[in-house]
Amino acid sequence: MKRCSHFIDGTSQPPASQAWLPVHDPATGQPFAQVARGNAADVDAAVAAATAAFPAWSRLPNSQRARLLERLADALEARMEDFARAESRDGGKPFRLALDAEIPRAVSNLRFFAHAATQFASESHHGEAGLNYTLRPPLGVVATISPWNLPLYLFTWKIAPALAAGNTVVAKPSEITPLTATMLGELAAEIGFPAGVLNIVHGLGPEVGEPLVTHPQVRAVSFTGSTAVGKRIATLVAPLLRKVSLELGGKNPTLVFADSDWRTHLDTLVRSAFQNSGQICLCGSRLLVEHGIYGDFRDAFVERVQALRVGDPSAPDTNVGPLVSQAHFDKVLGCIATARAEGARVLCGGNRLEREGWFVEPTVIDGLGPACATNLEEIFGPVVTLQAFDTDAQALALANAGDYGLAASVWTRDLERAHRMSRDLRCGIVWINTWLMRDLRTPFGGMGSSGLGREGGSEAMRFFTEPRNVCISY
Ligand code: NAD
Repeated sequence: MKRCSHFIDGTSQPPASQAWLPVHDPATGQPFAQVARGNAADVDAAVAAATAAFPAWSRLPNSQRARLLERLADALEARMEDFARAESRDGGKPFRLALDAEIPRAVSNLRFFAHAATQFASESHHGEAGLNYTLRPPLGVVATISPWNLPLYLFTWKIAPALAAGNTVVAKPSEITPLTATMLGELAAEIGFPAGVLNIVHGLGPEVGEPLVTHPQVRAVSFTGSTAVGKRIATLVAPLLRKVSLELGGKNPTLVFADSDWRTHLDTLVRSAFQNSGQICLCGSRLLVEHGIYGDFRDAFVERVQALRVGDPSAPDTNVGPLVSQAHFDKVLGCIATARAEGARVLCGGNRLEREGWFVEPTVIDGLGPACATNLEEIFGPVVTLQAFDTDAQALALANAGDYGLAASVWTRDLERAHRMSRDLRCGIVWINTWLMRDLRTPFGGMGSSGLGREGGSEAMRFFTEPRNVCISY
């Protein structure tokens, strides 16, 4: 059985506890690998290695750090298929989605921030009081914690800017999907990444994540995951006055106006709801549809959802795979039961698949208003609701209902309306007539329960550096 060991100081290391956790295949529900059950001793070892590596890494010319990140990107690109297979195996995501989109995105993350290392510049200010220039040195050892839904994509989204800016990293991937992070550590060793610059400690949140974010040598924490854990991390690091970035959950609205080309965009609209079984923080889980087209839209949408092929994630034509874990499967089925109890009408789906593994049918629900758990709480599964609206003001009120504020998509041909909506939506990301289209230079993140701070492009480079102004009298 494959074992995912820690990667500390440039080598694979077993857990200090000698304890291992099972890793399951969501398509069968059976364990097929093991991951190190790390603890505070492993975190100490990783932070010590990162601390020792920091002076040399941070003093390297930016171009040399960039070259190493490029080499890692090249090595990953050469092994894309192996990584996609691994990502599909422990996360249950369709192999094609991993191969065509998510592993390539991990490559792009590494390349993008390799370039950022050589392009990032700091400011100077003059004309008012002396000559000021701002230094942006790296912070030191930083912690990154990532979730299971886009394992390598989000892992690299964090480590790449941290390393590019000159920090050394202790990264904690999700214990549910540890394969590709482990493989990336092995690749880093193969291509000659300096020991201690990137360290990976596996294990459970309370046993590894908490000692890591509170470790005295850790200078900043970049976290992506659930709102509940984000709040827990905020309470732990606030008294330490530690820099923190929190990318949390979402309950994103999809606003479909009668004037839109919704029939042309139907595939994208369905994808925006069900990609990766709805387990993407950016999926649109609340579809708000203008009254005039509501019936037509509902019927066409449901028909397209029913045509999705749900099944074996390794099959090339699978659209929707299983949910990631037994716990998450139970949670999603519980949410569907709650929706029914709240008076929902289930238009399609609503059940598990009668087969092994953690499969839930793509589910579309209507008949519920904005003030119910189904429309307020993140489900993070293949479950979406439809609500109708009459006016732009009603659409906005529905879209902005609730505490989350990550992303929204607006489907309209009216340019003025698109701009007005973008101005008034309460969220960090708005898509107009598209979904999940990303320029990596743009700020990424949410408001309210969706998080604190922004990542992406120069926002990430700023997060992982400490501005220090130098003022010189003329
Ligand atoms: P999670 O919060 O359970 O776990 C995320 C990571 O935090 C894992 O590595 C986990 O081991 C670790 N962790 C758990 N408890 C911890 C603790 N007490 N201290 C420190 N670390 C701890 O989230 P998940 O279930 O893996 O991921 C799904 C969630 O992530 C959803 O809510 C989703 O919306 C969110 N998400 C957000 C974004 C974004 O960019 N905003 C992107 C992807 C996923």
